[in-house]
Amino acid sequence: MLGFRGVCLTGIGLLCIISHVFGIWLDWLDPQSFRSAMSRLYSQFGRRIRLLSGAMLVAVAMCLLPVSSLAAGAADEAAQGGKGRFHYEYVVQDGDTLYLVAKKFGVSMERLKKWNRRVVGRKGKLKVGKTMKVYSNVPIRPKRTAFYVVKSGDSLYRIAKKLGCEIGELKKLNAIRNSVIQPRDRLVYLTDAPEKVSESVGYCFNGKLINGEKLPPGPGYTFGHRPNIYGTNETITLLLDSIARYRRKYPDGPIVVVGNLSQRGGGKLDPHKSHQSGRDVDLGYIHKKKFQPINHMMATNEQNMDVRKTWYLLETLLKTEKVEKMFIDYKIQELLYKHLKGRNYVERYLKKLLQYPRGKNADAIIEHEDGHHHHVHVRFVCPDKDKRCSN
Ligand SMILES: [Zn+2]
Repeated sequence: MLGFRGVCLTGIGLLCIISHVFGIWLDWLDPQSFRSAMSRLYSQFGRRIRLLSGAMLVAVAMCLLPVSSLAAGAADEAAQGGKGRFHYEYVVQDGDTLYLVAKKFGVSMERLKKWNRRVVGRKGKLKVGKTMKVYSNVPIRPKRTAFYVVKSGDSLYRIAKKLGCEIGELKKLNAIRNSVIQPRDRLVYLTDAPEKVSESVGYCFNGKLINGEKLPPGPGYTFGHRPNIYGTNETITLLLDSIARYRRKYPDGPIVVVGNLSQRGGGKLDPHKSHQSGRDVDLGYIHKKKFQPINHMMATNEQNMDVRKTWYLLETLLKTEKVEKMFIDYKIQELLYKHLKGRNYVERYLKKLLQYPRGKNADAIIEHEDGHHHHVHVRFVCPDKDKRCSN
């Protein structure tokens, strides 16, 4: 558990203790009554041995303390920023392998093993029913396990193409050698497809949400105790991907405060006019660190807003090309406009994005709406497959 460094230091420490005790013992000897040449020799060095070994003992103890106080796994967690950070939990299912779980979460097998020494058996086998931990500073959307039954005429290449995965991954997941597969073989694969497929129906101000997906807890954002955090699968993916990008850019930046999305089944959500069909989400602006609230929205202005970080998050969302509208107070649009002008954004692009300085009725993706000085409202377009959804 201590590792090589710990074992070496422990060894040196033990030697120090022995020599320290030996030094004290030599001090106790009376060289007059113990008249051998050896005792006279040691009596000269007894005090020195004791002092030297005492000093070494203190030094070794100081080196050893951080090693022994952290178990190997915990030390790795600390090295990766794991200790005290957000971790995802995963219950091991029958048939799971270290490779499969690592691929699910997009982490290396080495890290996964270090974080879960008690769950991983000697030969890398996982203990079914045990909970594994995956530490992360950015939101992860874990993949799901799915199965495919081989049909006659199938090749691994064709199956991989159909399922949207790599041949190598398919082979490793199923321990296939020499690419030999037989009809009716049941192959495991990993998919991004949601467990329940959501559907946005109608308009965002008069609609509903079928199989709404709940925003899961994760690193880099908070939704406090809000219950109305259901969206379409696409909304949840776009939101988590954008927060992950923001988080990678500003690992120590303030976390994102997420407000309401929709109710589980959509429909009217007071006091909002929209937020009915799983495509709307409110996000707090990013504030300068000393002003950043923990889990609520706050009135935002030139003094407390971190314009650069806010814009990074908004631009990340806009770059998905899935944003239909954003509602942002006109005064905050001015702050964004000045920031972007300073960064030499071209006027044509700014005109497409912002109403400022053309007035609150100008045509742009980002529009003024009263009440949006403490949060930005983001509306995503209808998912392509949701034919009953109206933009
Ligand atoms: Zn809103």
